[in-house]
Amino acid sequence: MPKNSEVIELAKALISRASVTPEDEGCQELIKTRLAKLGFSHETMVFDDTTNLWSRRNGAEDLSDTKDTPVFCFAGHTDVVPPGNLELWNTPPFEPTIIDGMLYGRGTADMKGSIAAMVVATERFVTDYPHYQGAITYLITSDEEGPFINGTTRVIDTLEARNEKITYCIVGEPSSTNNVGDVVKNGRRGSISAAITIHGKQGHVAYPEHVKNPIHLAMPALTELSQVQWDHGNDYFPATSFQLSNINSGTGATNVVPGHLTALCNLRYSTELSDALIVEKVETILTKHQLDYQIKWTFNGKPFITELGTDKNDFLTIVSDAVTSVTGTKPVLSTSGGTSDGRFIAPTGAKVIELGPCNATIHQVNESVSCDDLDKLCDIYYACLKGVLVTNETNDS
Ligand SMILES: [Zn+2]
Repeated sequence: MPKNSEVIELAKALISRASVTPEDEGCQELIKTRLAKLGFSHETMVFDDTTNLWSRRNGAEDLSDTKDTPVFCFAGHTDVVPPGNLELWNTPPFEPTIIDGMLYGRGTADMKGSIAAMVVATERFVTDYPHYQGAITYLITSDEEGPFINGTTRVIDTLEARNEKITYCIVGEPSSTNNVGDVVKNGRRGSISAAITIHGKQGHVAYPEHVKNPIHLAMPALTELSQVQWDHGNDYFPATSFQLSNINSGTGATNVVPGHLTALCNLRYSTELSDALIVEKVETILTKHQLDYQIKWTFNGKPFITELGTDKNDFLTIVSDAVTSVTGTKPVLSTSGGTSDGRFIAPTGAKVIELGPCNATIHQVNESVSCDDLDKLCDIYYACLKGVLVTNETNDS
């Protein structure tokens, strides 16, 4: 049996803590102990049921006049989704097991494997380059898989209140498809939902002069909404998509005109649009159709993008080169998929990307990740740290 790497050992220690969201089960204590040995200082931020960790280590003692020095952040979560039906697991979900080079257990891919890779990469990097420029930080939450109310968003609010900024951020979400690093997410679409209620007047179908049918009234407006060309997307995003997901009306009887109709819809939108423009456009259309309506909006997250720059110091270029140096393959950039905690970090001005292992088994039974991929991920993270935090000057000293 080959000896497990440091990354696999740490991943196993994290996976054996059954931290079903929003529990942390001591994962952050484990991370703190490892980072404290390197000189990191920690702030544990508890908001209601959620434990968050903000850790920082500066490369130089005095960063006071070095406004431009980068603050690098590893962001992630220690919580996992519930294991589901235990009988469907081939191995117990919280007893990490290696079979044929694959590490099985809940959270292996999403995202305790990434956290282990981050910590070991940081240990190696700080040992090699203790006087790097800028700072390394960790933003770890136990509320990513839950309602995301008391996690990253609250930590960011706290940091913003004291004007503590992140320059570059790698979120360890499982971004890859077939091999580690084959896909890097350099942005995410925005998401906004609306619950539209259209009021009519209920009555007998045989007396149309006494009713206002909300189904008839709603149809032209909903049709128009479904046919709007919201934008054409751009280099990084597909065109914005509007989808009606539910329509409800009627009493169940064929001889009653209902009193109202409710429609639920969602837009996944590009950086060409804003939530304010969407709200304005939807309300303009409903008003044009002279509807008596109410709308309840839910703002799930704004879109963000980290664009590819042209010079060697560009963050995305550094990340892309880091992947290529380890895997030999250039990553594909993508903004696909749902929302992530990156949406809370990017609005502060940070350049945010997501880079982690393969996502084929996340949230499923028998979640697994390749041990080899986790070791490579550690090397990629190391190369990212070096690319961002080591100048020729630091190198020489
Ligand atoms: Zn995740």
